[in-house]
Amino acid sequence: MKDLVERLYPICRSITGDGVRKTLEIVGELIPLSVTEVPTGTQVLDWNVPREWNIRDAWIKDPSGRKVVDFRELNLHVVGYSVPVSGRFTLAELRPRLHTLPGLVPYRTSYYAETWGFCLTQEVLDSLEEGEYEVLIDSTLADGHLTYAEHVVEGETDEEVLISCHICHPSLANDNLAGIAVAVELARWLRDPRYTYRFVFAPGTIGAITWLAANGDRCARIRHGLTLACAGDPGPLTYKRSRRGDAEIDRAVTHVIGDRILDFSPYGYDERQYGSPGFDLPVGGLTRTPYAGYPEYHTSGDNPGFVTEAAMADTLRALKEVVEVLEGNRTYLNLSPYGEPQLGRRGLYGSLGGRSDTKTAQMAMLWVLNLSDGDHSLLDIAERSKLPFGAVAMAAKDLQDAGLVKEKA
Ligand code: ZN
Repeated sequence: MKDLVERLYPICRSITGDGVRKTLEIVGELIPLSVTEVPTGTQVLDWNVPREWNIRDAWIKDPSGRKVVDFRELNLHVVGYSVPVSGRFTLAELRPRLHTLPGLVPYRTSYYAETWGFCLTQEVLDSLEEGEYEVLIDSTLADGHLTYAEHVVEGETDEEVLISCHICHPSLANDNLAGIAVAVELARWLRDPRYTYRFVFAPGTIGAITWLAANGDRCARIRHGLTLACAGDPGPLTYKRSRRGDAEIDRAVTHVIGDRILDFSPYGYDERQYGSPGFDLPVGGLTRTPYAGYPEYHTSGDNPGFVTEAAMADTLRALKEVVEVLEGNRTYLNLSPYGEPQLGRRGLYGSLGGRSDTKTAQMAMLWVLNLSDGDHSLLDIAERSKLPFGAVAMAAKDLQDAGLVKEKA
């Protein structure tokens, strides 16, 4: 995962353009993708697909001709969607177009207001002397396409689980690339699932809106979903509930990750598009440190050194557990509900005394028997018993094999 983050990091992505295509080409080497190109001007819900932006070079040269800001060193140096410019400006004329942070290069964009600008550290700006500066931004803003891609793992049913990652940020590692890398590994891990898993790699906001505009009829099949972002920083996992707040995905993720749970708000990543009232899809947001919650957020500090393989592996582990809950969550009926059935006679009661997992396994069996009245799913039972879902699911399987429970039709 870290290798993929490092490989994607130098590419200058935006909401449209060749950086997105190059990114999808590399992701497509790892998992098959179907890529969709939507022309500029296409109406998508209340929006229109914007003109496509591409950039080749950009710099500022000081009065002595030395490059003091260079896009080729770091693509965050140019405000995203900057219009082309070539000319000479005094430092005073340039200042309003220069965005700074102490010790860090900020990430700025201007998608829908035509302008241009540069981003640099406050220290570099402070070191600049008065005089005439030469400026170049070799970009194009022209009719073209918005690009997004999907990867589908077919399941037994056409009911879907949606995993959505934004792919529109340039050189930012945690916010964007770590989520993509974890999603790719999750996709590669899935084998013969019950649900169909749809991975959407789309530019933030306009990309999700474009996908929703083209997939309105598919939305009825989406049973569970997650946006995945900020998946590789050292902070603990955090889950933001779907708009519904009590959807099965909300309960499944809460069961897996514990108490770092935030309520839905119509801000953040594309859960706000999937959770707009017309769609109201059960899509929550999984991050480590949440949106805008760390000092490196949207700055040059969010580089591959900020994300770790261990953190991404932990995010992936949690996602696999969430998938196991969604895949395994069924409701059973106790076929011997009058009094406790005699487990020992059926070989189900701990002859293996002393094993550390024996007590958990036995408690899980008693809970499954007690709550399998047709009204409680295995996730209900795991929540109420405070036992791991895996133990509850295993107990249900053992009881089914022994003829004591059957799956509710
Ligand atoms: Zn961001």
